[in-house]
Amino acid sequence: MALIEKIPENLRRIRQQIGAWAEEYGRQPDTVALLAVSKTHPAEAVLAAHRAGQRAFGESYLQEALDKIRSLAGYELEWHYIGRIQSNKTRDIAHHFSWVHSVDRLKIAQRLSQQRDPDAQALNICLEINISEQASKAGIAPQDAAELARTVSQLPNLRLRGLMALPAPYPDFRQQRQAFGQLRALRDRLNRELGLDMDTLSMGMSNDMEAAIAEGATIVRIGTAIFGPRE
Ligand SMILES: *Cc1c(COP(=O)(O)O)cnc(C)c1O
Repeated sequence: MALIEKIPENLRRIRQQIGAWAEEYGRQPDTVALLAVSKTHPAEAVLAAHRAGQRAFGESYLQEALDKIRSLAGYELEWHYIGRIQSNKTRDIAHHFSWVHSVDRLKIAQRLSQQRDPDAQALNICLEINISEQASKAGIAPQDAAELARTVSQLPNLRLRGLMALPAPYPDFRQQRQAFGQLRALRDRLNRELGLDMDTLSMGMSNDMEAAIAEGATIVRIGTAIFGPRE
């Protein structure tokens, strides 16, 4: 319980940091949204954050997420799926989430499009880019992103919002900025060349949030700094 009691204070500190860094890098503080990554943390932790004014939550493990979503159904929460996606799990993702940050294959996007309720709001989609081009990592290679973006942007019941990346964990601030800058440049180029209007850069976690904000992050995905370390 000790950690849950710290959540409101952690959230205040992070919001204040986001605001300060936004200003430092010449941005409006309200252009950087905070996604609270609650994976592995219990529903009570989500509720504590919600009571402290947090609305958007990120989850990576589907079964765990569905349990929390069901048990918190009475609250006005916005759920973002940020984990790996198996194709036999897309139906639950399409039904229970508002955003998916981790689309990196056309097949997954097609299934989400087919399975999203046409009467619901379009499912917001970010394409996950393997920006550091690490062999073992999720995400589509930057050079293949244009083809995927073009196709996904035309699928019904989806709205292509932008790009997401989880770069290699560079300790050095300059390297962190470089990776995030590459993601921003890719988003800008795809918008230009394909005539898209992607407005979202989902980048930055507890350890590299400043660099991400400096390079234009519009959603930072923060877990540890809000909820404490994961088991
Ligand atoms: C777990 C996770 C985060 C949060 O990371 P922290 O270091 O705990 O802030 C952000 N994005 C993704 C994709 C994650 O899986």
